[in-house]
Amino acid sequence: MNWIKKFMIGRYGPDQLSTALLVLYIIFSGIFHSTLLNILSMVLLIIIFYRMFSKDIGKRYEENNKFLKYWHPIKNKARKKMNRMKSRKDYRYYECLNCKQKLRVPRGKGKITVTCPKCKITMIKKT
Ligand SMILES: [Zn+2]
Repeated sequence: MNWIKKFMIGRYGPDQLSTALLVLYIIFSGIFHSTLLNILSMVLLIIIFYRMFSKDIGKRYEENNKFLKYWHPIKNKARKKMNRMKSRKDYRYYECLNCKQKLRVPRGKGKITVTCPKCKITMIKKT
């Protein structure tokens, strides 16, 4: 294992972009069977290795940051959706009629008055 450590000195190594490309590679090469996707997956693999063994650390770091700028909003949106799905049986979600603020109310309380915390408008909702 020592030669790997020595070899990787001064090289960029794996990052989030490489991981994302690896996932794409696995999808392209493992799930679909077409020549075009196989070629594409080979290109992805070459890019992954090129980036990992690259000595231009600044440039690779910049590429990863560009990727993260797009990736973080997607990840956060997906996480929000997942949390909402998980708590669906305990809470109901409404949108404020005035300002479109998302409102969460506990389920099973009958008819309740919901007050929007942002614009203070009140609505009567069934829970
Ligand atoms: Zn509101």
